[in-house]
Amino acid sequence: MDKIRMTTPLVEMDGDEMTRILWQMIKDKLILPFVDLKTEYYDLGLLHRNETKDQVTVDAANATKKYGVAVKCATITPNKQRMEEYPQLTEMWKSPNGTIRSILDGTVFRAPICIDAIKPVVKNWKKPITIARHAYGDVYKSVDFHTEEPGECTMTFKGVSGEEHTVCVQKVDGPAVWQGAHNKDKSIRSFARACFQYAVDTKQDLWFSTKDTIAKIYDGNFKKIFEEEFEGYKAKFEELGLTYFYTLIDDAVARVIRSEGGYIWACKNYDGDVMSDMVSTAFGSLAMMTSVLVSPDGTTEYEAAHGTVTKHYYKYLKGEKTSTNPMATIFAWSGALKKRGELDGIAALTAFGEKLEEACFDTLNAGIMTRDLVGLVDEGFTAKAVTSEEFLDAVAQRLQEKLA
Ligand code: NAP
Ligand code: MG
Repeated sequence: MDKIRMTTPLVEMDGDEMTRILWQMIKDKLILPFVDLKTEYYDLGLLHRNETKDQVTVDAANATKKYGVAVKCATITPNKQRMEEYPQLTEMWKSPNGTIRSILDGTVFRAPICIDAIKPVVKNWKKPITIARHAYGDVYKSVDFHTEEPGECTMTFKGVSGEEHTVCVQKVDGPAVWQGAHNKDKSIRSFARACFQYAVDTKQDLWFSTKDTIAKIYDGNFKKIFEEEFEGYKAKFEELGLTYFYTLIDDAVARVIRSEGGYIWACKNYDGDVMSDMVSTAFGSLAMMTSVLVSPDGTTEYEAAHGTVTKHYYKYLKGEKTSTNPMATIFAWSGALKKRGELDGIAALTAFGEKLEEACFDTLNAGIMTRDLVGLVDEGFTAKAVTSEEFLDAVAQRLQEKLA
């Protein structure tokens, strides 16, 4: 069988620990035998980031801008404990995902991979719900303090023109806490565009929720910018039969629970933090969540939502065969290959990505799955826990049959 040819390289960002092991296995067993894989490789493994003073992360993000599609392995974000574990680290390097996100000015879309054998906790959910979380500002870039005595707090904006604007936040008669938060029109606009673009790309309705009845100016600004940006997408939405739907966050929560799923739910930063954990848990497992970073110009980076699965890696280092779930990482690859195929007009590459996903579903539906999923399987289905390697072999076998 001839291998499928590619014309433009995929930006490949390698990572850390157990996911780095899975990364190589996925390439060896599921991709390289079938695709004449062209990638521009960046090693985002912690030690290489350290050696390059994190330049490799910046280079990888810039390459993504250049080529348009990337696939990324999970990476360690160093903390105090990691500094002790890796004494050669010269700095507590920032989160690669944060660095890439700010260079690409992107929005993260998280969606569950749903299978028949695992029913969502919310029984009427039939299709995946994708959460789009705004990744800039609000409480995450706020300042706060505590005061002891009675008094008044004011907030002042000083324009470069010299103009000033002051409001009284509150007068208090005793100890109090205070918080100053902001967001930028530019960031909100990028977020809105990324959401509308992704809705068009994936042919799903877009919901957006804030609390503009309370935060009339702050959240009202989000609502207004979304409305303005929607003007540029209205015709496309109509053509595809899609809806843009704005509602209050509390109303959205109630509607989401009663819905069948199958749409994108755009949330402000904090709402997205909370709701994405709720939605992903209700759908089953973190190991089945995919994550796509989309920038307003359509540049995309695919990855798994989970981390480097450290505990499994330590077992692997002791020589144990682990049952780590490679699904989300496989889907990062299939997503990126499908997108590359679409952009370059290589139907065989897009079809390969689809068949790879089908082969994964067939394997799971045959009851062959990693240990994390076996415990979640509904009554009436039988499932057997296999190692990561056995799972990948079972997928490879089915993939081969589909491609034959
Ligand atoms: P994690 O790697 O997501 O794993 C947490 C636990 O979830 C695991 O111990 C495992 O539970 C379960 N799990 C996650 N993915 C799984 C999979 N594919 N198959 C089976 N079980 C899975 O989170 P963490 O341990 O908090 O973080 C580890 C490292 O990952 C950290 O250094 C963090 O900085 C990094 N991280 C990176 C990213 C990213 O690059 N996108 C995201 C998050 C975290 P059991 O042990 O019970 O089996
Ligand atoms: Mg969180």
